[in-house]
Amino acid sequence: MSVRTLKIDDKDVAVEAGTSIMDAAKEAGVPIPKLCHLEGLTPVGACRMCLVEIEGLNKLLPACVTEVSEGMVIHTQTPKLQEYRRMNVELIFAEGNHVCSICVANGNCELQDVAIEVGMDHSRFPYRFPDRGVDLSHPLFGIDHNRCILCTRCVRVCDEVEGAHVWDVAQRGAACYIVSGLNQPWGEVDACTSCGKCVDACPTGAIFKQGSTTGEKQADADTLEFLYTAREKHQWTR
Ligand code: SF4
Ligand code: SF4
Repeated sequence: MSVRTLKIDDKDVAVEAGTSIMDAAKEAGVPIPKLCHLEGLTPVGACRMCLVEIEGLNKLLPACVTEVSEGMVIHTQTPKLQEYRRMNVELIFAEGNHVCSICVANGNCELQDVAIEVGMDHSRFPYRFPDRGVDLSHPLFGIDHNRCILCTRCVRVCDEVEGAHVWDVAQRGAACYIVSGLNQPWGEVDACTSCGKCVDACPTGAIFKQGSTTGEKQADADTLEFLYTAREKHQWTR
């Protein structure tokens, strides 16, 4: 095993070569904010919440998809990063229709958590109020595209862990949205096994169990642990 030694927020860390900065930070007990990253799924660096500063580099790099290298000196909580993260969360809120007071995930939402963490109390950017739909065609679950932050956790968990590949990303840029099957209503996609993994993987109230009302969605921590164990250790146990 080849080892890399580095510093994260003044803490000395020694990890296996190939480890991501995100995992090295976790090992060092240094929390890094994230939205698209979920242990057990392939990291994609989509949400940009985990950007870190590395001494000697003049650009910020996403911790989830950047491997450690020998002698790296990493900072995760500089004023510049805090300002970037706050701006990022404000842009996410302005981009969709996030009305926490009537959301199933109110109080149990990772987007809400990072907003509080970065000190956001309003968005400085004009709200786009996009015209998006809600799909309630599945007998057990629903998707409200207004609350989707395009993290692609649902896409990855359904493909990589459940093996059903129900979800994908359609269109480009601001027109992007999560699509089920061949742009069919979710309830008409035969590949869906109704396992519910996408419900638990979704960090917001975008995918939810039907019948849930405001604040009732709780991501099942056991399921998330199951996903990680299945992916990393190939143990399919609960
Ligand atoms: S319920 Fe399971 S199979 Fe159906 S879309 Fe969600 S993760 Fe995929
Ligand atoms: S539906 Fe949820 S999990 Fe899927 S991309 Fe949107 S926010 Fe992420």
